[in-house]
Amino acid sequence: MTNKKLQSPVLVLNKHWAAFRVVSAARALCMLVKGAAEAIDVEEGGGFFNHDFNSWAELSEYKSQFDAEAHQWIQLVRGVLAVPQVVRLLKFDKVRPAKVKFTRRNIYARDGHVCQYCGQRFPTEELNLDHVVPRSRGGRSTWENVVCSCIACNTKKGACTPVEAGMQLVRPPVKPKVLPEIMNLQHDSWKHFVDAAYWNVELEQT
Ligand SMILES: [Zn+2]
Repeated sequence: MTNKKLQSPVLVLNKHWAAFRVVSAARALCMLVKGAAEAIDVEEGGGFFNHDFNSWAELSEYKSQFDAEAHQWIQLVRGVLAVPQVVRLLKFDKVRPAKVKFTRRNIYARDGHVCQYCGQRFPTEELNLDHVVPRSRGGRSTWENVVCSCIACNTKKGACTPVEAGMQLVRPPVKPKVLPEIMNLQHDSWKHFVDAAYWNVELEQT
């Protein structure tokens, strides 16, 4: 298995079927093998079925012949195993809910890689973090004062407030209510569970 496959994102549901964090494929498979989690097969129409390791291995054999593009694959001694896109915890305490960390990646995710001044979407390398109220004016590094900005807008704004620069925010920045990594929807199959996550993710109080 290549390192990239080991790192691919897997959505973890809690016992109540609510999405509450994302782990690497390596970790998800480990939980599946140990029986701490079951694999969830999401059909295109939206139906889903739960599988323990053995039945997932059987389903993998079938999928490898008829639905190979839908998954990444791990070569086993005998046959292949699909990397599940979603797993559900069977024992609650194995994975703690993730905290919404105040990181560059999460700010980009919250803002959807959209510059909060001109409203255009940019690749990561063309984005900056901008302090709405500049640090030099006492602006703090918080969810409510840091946004995604393209380099052109960032340069234009300089050390001004938006009002001074004659610029307007696309929307006021707030602390995300749902883990940005879940909202990123790396697979279509995640959609079914994310609405539930909105109401169930326990947020870190700061
Ligand atoms: Zn911009």
